[in-house]
Amino acid sequence: MTARTVDATNHARIAGLGQRVLEGEHITREQAMWLFNLEGSADILDLLSWANRIREQFKGNKIHLCSIVNAKAGACSENCSFCAQSSFYQTGSPKYGFVDPEPVFEAADEANKNGVTAVGLVAAWKGLNEGPMLDEVCDRIRELKESGKTRPDASLGIIKSQKVADRLKEAGLECYGHNLESSRRFFPQTCTTHTYEDRIETIGYLKKAGLKICSGGIIGMGETREDRCDLAFSLKEIGANVVPINILNPIPGTPFENNPPLPVLEILKTIACFRFILPRQEIMIAGGRTVNLRDAQSMVFMAGASALMVGNYLTTLNQSVEKDLQMLKDLGLDPSWENHGFSDQDDNGCGCSKTSCATEMVTADA
Ligand code: SF4
Repeated sequence: MTARTVDATNHARIAGLGQRVLEGEHITREQAMWLFNLEGSADILDLLSWANRIREQFKGNKIHLCSIVNAKAGACSENCSFCAQSSFYQTGSPKYGFVDPEPVFEAADEANKNGVTAVGLVAAWKGLNEGPMLDEVCDRIRELKESGKTRPDASLGIIKSQKVADRLKEAGLECYGHNLESSRRFFPQTCTTHTYEDRIETIGYLKKAGLKICSGGIIGMGETREDRCDLAFSLKEIGANVVPINILNPIPGTPFENNPPLPVLEILKTIACFRFILPRQEIMIAGGRTVNLRDAQSMVFMAGASALMVGNYLTTLNQSVEKDLQMLKDLGLDPSWENHGFSDQDDNGCGCSKTSCATEMVTADA
């Protein structure tokens, strides 16, 4: 047996920062980086326990469940290095055009049966412009909304005009998914066919239209802890309502196919640090959960997660929804939501509630 000296000053400093967040204060980037750099398992478990307290204080025992339907698959014009659906890589991923209503209704029925709050329509393309495709997308959103079975969300890429965002809102969309993926500094290593600025601009249009923002990123792409920290602060500045954390599941044929997996404690620590930085946001564990966390999946809630992507992902499989629901029940967590709504978030994370917040953001990671 190897005994290790545990530094009690770390215990006190983590508690001090946790207490500040519980009292409604914001931690600084420097303090957050100190948390990201904790190494010992005793310190990391201390951090998780405080992230769990913060989740309980701001989120109670409610867990928000979302699912997605791949509304247009493969042959994407973009070169995101993590993605099986890019036309730049040979991955064997399915390819089809924008779906008819039936698969969307099937996904809504499935979501309704399992008490899943929202179904997101996800399309593998660069973005959405005005034209017949926008009409079709709006039809699907309207049908889904009128069915009353679930909340229609969408993740349809880059938007280049306010009109498109307004049309989506008019069709009944409430929340749009658009990840920043990583820090501004690391982003060019993940994609060169569009820019971080394109993504920030899209979020500006969406917020101006009055849509809620689901925006997060992917960890395990080769980024540093500084990049993860800067991503969290950028998400705070743009006022993301839901923050999905994906963990890279390396897809054969993509440039990231040989990326080494992140250690489980590093993943849990990252989730906990996000909870310290984003105390009121829905922090959702999304793609790559099963393959990277295995038996430690249930610990994401103790690390501060308050939302879960359930059902299969776009190109990879997840564990069954029944298993996820049992996991929540065993932990005393409650996935039921009335009216498919959002939990209370009384500010944009940055302290303001202006819909123009994203367009006014000061870059934390430039
Ligand atoms: S992540 Fe989206 S934009 Fe990038 S290649 Fe995949 S489908 Fe296209």
